[in-house]
Amino acid sequence: MKSKTIKRVTKLNFLFFLIFFTISCKKNIPLNPPDPSKNFRNLTILYTNDEHGWMEATTTHGGAAGMVGLWKEKEGYTESGPYLILSGGDMWTGPAISTWTHGEAMAQVMNAMDYSAAAIGNHEFDFKVEGLMERLEQSEFPFLSANIKSKTTGEIPDFAMPYLIKEVNDIKIGIIGLTTTTTPLSTFPDHVKDFDFINYADALQEVVPKAKQDGAELLVITGHICAGEIRALIPIAKELGISVIGGGHCHRVVNDSLNGIAIIESGSYMQGYAKVELVFDTAGDTVVSKKQDVVENIGGSPDPEISTIVTYWQGQTNATLSEVIGYAKAEINRHSNGMHNMVTDSWLFAYPAADISCTNAGGIRQSIPAGDITLGTIVGVLPFENNIIELELTGTEIKDVTDDMHDLIVGGMTKNGFKLDDGTPLEDNKTYRVLTTDYLYARSDNNFSLYDTDPYYTSILYRQPTIDWIKSLNTSAANPLDQYLDHTPR
Ligand SMILES: [Zn+2]
Repeated sequence: MKSKTIKRVTKLNFLFFLIFFTISCKKNIPLNPPDPSKNFRNLTILYTNDEHGWMEATTTHGGAAGMVGLWKEKEGYTESGPYLILSGGDMWTGPAISTWTHGEAMAQVMNAMDYSAAAIGNHEFDFKVEGLMERLEQSEFPFLSANIKSKTTGEIPDFAMPYLIKEVNDIKIGIIGLTTTTTPLSTFPDHVKDFDFINYADALQEVVPKAKQDGAELLVITGHICAGEIRALIPIAKELGISVIGGGHCHRVVNDSLNGIAIIESGSYMQGYAKVELVFDTAGDTVVSKKQDVVENIGGSPDPEISTIVTYWQGQTNATLSEVIGYAKAEINRHSNGMHNMVTDSWLFAYPAADISCTNAGGIRQSIPAGDITLGTIVGVLPFENNIIELELTGTEIKDVTDDMHDLIVGGMTKNGFKLDDGTPLEDNKTYRVLTTDYLYARSDNNFSLYDTDPYYTSILYRQPTIDWIKSLNTSAANPLDQYLDHTPR
């Protein structure tokens, strides 16, 4: 009797333990195990955005090869497995390895990484529509955008696919692309003058029903749009049955869920990837469970195939450094007004939407010797991996930062009496668009980050406009660069 009671108590205890254990451990069971009899299927979405050509490993992050290593080691990734790899756009314009090949190197890397689709970002237009078409031809995945319309036909242009239906592990996935409506302001405006970038909600309402008609069961957006814009889209996305929205353009790490919709963004420069692990019920077309995360690209063993491609392009880039891009009759001294004005003016040449440019003279490291100017010369003059950012500053704030930094050199204005190039005085309360570097922005000896907490990252390397400007002049011994320089002190 006693032993029976004990047994029963033990049994009850065990039951209680089981229930308790199940409840208490529920948090630690991330996914319901797939049940084929119920048509449950696994899918892992691996997502990057704003890669900007950062295929090379850095001192802190693993680059493209390290990322694939992480995918294999941490995510169990195999090419034939239930994985969907997507990009949120801005695939190139960044380090020389990507920029000097107009993105060719990066497209090859992304092919090898098995991307299924990429959103069209503003920087996909940096080498004109012709450059985008070249990359599209080369890429083994489509470029998506549902909200780019030709101004003449009102149709989505040929280079953009509004959505892709891709089947992974028996799940028909509808992947819809979006492109930032700020594109005309954040690439060379002339490159996109033939297109309208219509609002995201209208584009989704037009395109999502078509994707469903084409059989899409699970709907995913890959969008070159910022998280704030995504949050504003949640009600319409919910109505349309979208499950995952990947963003981009603002270079943020986002790992959020609103109304059951996963919102992800990986940061930028291949420093990490976002992932969403889903269990999908193909009978009911519903997401049964979902787990999401953003993983930093550190510690993966470099994938040999990707490493080989990156090494090849590093060799090509080094060979490119000997390319002659211009000619100087006399040395252009690194401390001269001619040099300073050339650098700051070239930024406004590349980015005409801005009013003013400024940088530290200390970022100019060498003089340009007389004779042929090669790409390597300019890399030596402006050697850092600094990128140009755009700030919105008032006249008063501009005066304050120029007072704080005595080696600040400027374009579009003069510090003598604070006048713009056209002679009009800087107005204290007026807001100006000011270019500077991400490096100066991060420095603590000025108030840039205080005055504009949300800078726009152009992802243009600070030396690239100077290269482009010199090239555009077609200089030679008969037509030397010297005659184009402005020696006026500012
Ligand atoms: Zn962008």
